[in-house]
Amino acid sequence: MIQKHKGILTVVSGFSGAGKGTIMKKLLADHPDRYALSVSATTRRPREGETDGVEYFFRSREEFERMIADEALIEYAEYVGNYYGTPRRYVAEQLDAGRDVILEIEIQGALKIKRRFPDALLLFVMPPDAKELKHRLSGRGTEPVDVIASRLERAVKEAEGIGEYDYLVINDVLEECVEEVHSIIKNEHRRVTRNAERIRAMQEDLASLNSGPQRGEQS
Ligand code: ADP
Ligand code: 5GP
Repeated sequence: MIQKHKGILTVVSGFSGAGKGTIMKKLLADHPDRYALSVSATTRRPREGETDGVEYFFRSREEFERMIADEALIEYAEYVGNYYGTPRRYVAEQLDAGRDVILEIEIQGALKIKRRFPDALLLFVMPPDAKELKHRLSGRGTEPVDVIASRLERAVKEAEGIGEYDYLVINDVLEECVEEVHSIIKNEHRRVTRNAERIRAMQEDLASLNSGPQRGEQS
């Protein structure tokens, strides 16, 4: 039961090229003990410099479909012609260990997570404006022009779903954005509904304090 653990299941979505990967890399480098980034499985081809098991587990369609059949994924979706999904085991293990687990996933998967784990925290990352998004996506130089066009079209659809998220983060100055993501997650731990056990323990302690010997009384 993922909701009962100390760590917060955090979903980060945003248009392709918004800077999610860059933000997550820095967040994890700044706070290595606090966060765990889930590595997804995908059927898309590795980009230059990507390694199996690091950025993704790169799998064939057949292998991916077997993972679906085995219920090894907590969610999956199709995005611009490829499957992407979140392996179950790592997420459960890391939440158990008290880490905040980050899923960097697209919107259909994010909404499945929210339905399945209502305690999940959903963040949406946006660039300062649409022109900058196109500039970043082309500047990354990892996709051909037709794929960039499909991803920008997809962004129009994704923008319709932002209302389902809990927080909007603008990725303008990278360092500020990373700090903001960290603050949101940190503050989320202070939410009263996430501290039921601590509150109950305090109530019990107070009750036993009051039922014990009164101050100045001989025992
Ligand atoms: P995503 O994971 O959302 O698809 P990336 O992290 O790959 O996006 O970032 C897309 C491109 O934008 C990369 O070339 C990255 O270096 C650049 N980038 C990310 N954040 C910023 C920022 N705050 N300012 C300028 N460029 C950025
Ligand atoms: P990319 O091909 O740029 O690495 O990722 C394309 C999109 O797939 C991004 O929006 C990314 O967040 C999303 N994505 C990555 N992993 C997963 C996953 O496990 N599940 C879902 N639903 N989306 C994912």
